[in-house]
Amino acid sequence: MNAVEFLINAAYLVVAALFILGLKAMSSPVTAKRGIQWAGIGMVLATVATFFVPGMDGTNMILMVIAMAIGGGVAWYAAIKVKMTDMPQMVAIYNGMGGGAAGLIAAIEFAGGQVHNPIVAIMAVLGALIGSVAFSGSIIAFLKLQGIMNKTLKLPMGNMANLILFAATVLLGILVVTTQHPLFIVLFFIAAAALGVLIVSPIGGADMPVVISLLNAFTGLAVGFEGYVLGNPALIIAGIVVGAAGSLLTMLMAKAMNRPIRNVIFTPITGEVLEGHQIEGTMKEMSSMDAAASLRYAQKVIIVPGYGMAVAGAQHKIWELTKLLQNEGIVVKFAIHPVAGRMPGHMNVLLAEAGVPYDDIFDLDEINDEFPDADVALVIGANDTVNPVARTDKSSPIYGMPILDADKAKEAIVIKRGKGAGYSGIQNALFFAENTKMLYGSAQQAVADIITNLKTLL
Ligand code: NDP
Repeated sequence: MNAVEFLINAAYLVVAALFILGLKAMSSPVTAKRGIQWAGIGMVLATVATFFVPGMDGTNMILMVIAMAIGGGVAWYAAIKVKMTDMPQMVAIYNGMGGGAAGLIAAIEFAGGQVHNPIVAIMAVLGALIGSVAFSGSIIAFLKLQGIMNKTLKLPMGNMANLILFAATVLLGILVVTTQHPLFIVLFFIAAAALGVLIVSPIGGADMPVVISLLNAFTGLAVGFEGYVLGNPALIIAGIVVGAAGSLLTMLMAKAMNRPIRNVIFTPITGEVLEGHQIEGTMKEMSSMDAAASLRYAQKVIIVPGYGMAVAGAQHKIWELTKLLQNEGIVVKFAIHPVAGRMPGHMNVLLAEAGVPYDDIFDLDEINDEFPDADVALVIGANDTVNPVARTDKSSPIYGMPILDADKAKEAIVIKRGKGAGYSGIQNALFFAENTKMLYGSAQQAVADIITNLKTLL
């Protein structure tokens, strides 16, 4: 190893440390910004070190600079423009690019006839298969989350069709490894990309974050395999870190939704309304003035935001309401369910963006015991995550899912637009409970009305 190679490998070691430390810091909102910066510095260092890899000629360097300028420019512009509510689709599309890039590495290595070692060829094909599925699957996920593709495409005997296509892709992969014939290479990539499309197409919008997280883990794995093909330790380490983190996140989300990953993929929820057990009682409507009065004379309020808060963009109004209540000495806390919204951390990000301090935001485990002490649980655009049937109805699709115990507060006020069900399509027993009142309206407007009325009571 000469001095340049030694320095490149040393740089990659530092890069690996920065990636791992950055990821660790991202696990808490307080240190997350620092984590992003460390990982970013690692990425810049890895890119700079790559320019010094032996064998790099002037043409390569010029092409790399052009590609970086185009990719970096587009990403910079998109990141500045994107709304917080559109984050899931942005994550999806960037993830897809990673998988596609991994697939391209393999394609170029095979097309250039540079894969002579059979182990390397197997690694390249594995990375290409997983990367191509992640690429096309992520594009479908993006199209759905962006609302460009609304329908869930369900083939008759879909799982069987996927299985046959998977077997054909593996067969083509074996032919690529053994013959490296251009025709097989092209067919292999077409089949792998089609597989990604067919797997993700039937999956409903609400399952999409789990799928994105799974595809993210795929991308990490694919990058790790291609890192082996290129003999690049930074790619191997980055790939393993992303693959492991993505897999863990996928498992955590599936657990919090009480849905095994195989169900997400093989028996997706398509959004149709389910019957469920009949729930006794009636939904009792209240006015925004009554809601304001309940809040004004409470000592402790727990706010439970859900997906409806995110779509309505009500976080700024909610923070305004919180400040008014806190100024009157009322204790206000926010309770966040691990899968509230359509992306892990969705609620935390939106509330933090509006100015809610992290100290006022609590996870399910931290706050659930406090509901019986709360005078009011204010549920804003949340449904499944506060549905008590998850505790009681064994036939319910959400049975066993941990929920926020809003029903245990002295009074529950639920803001939503109508009597519609939540993502899982089942009725919510909380809405029919004796101590629950419904305030119908879009979250932002409903909270604004409460604020107006509250001001008359201060
Ligand atoms: P839900 O999707 O269960 O319910 C959202 C509620 O918001 C609906 O009942 C809807 O009622 C209401 N709503 C919609 N728009 C508005 C609006 N503009 N103003 C006021 N209310 C509105 O949300 P939750 O957050 O409780 O639960 C999330 C669900 O998503 C869970 O089932 C979870 O498993 C699932 N999920 C979450 C993932 C994650 O990682 N976060 C991943 C995958 C799935 P109405 O139409 O009457 O207004």
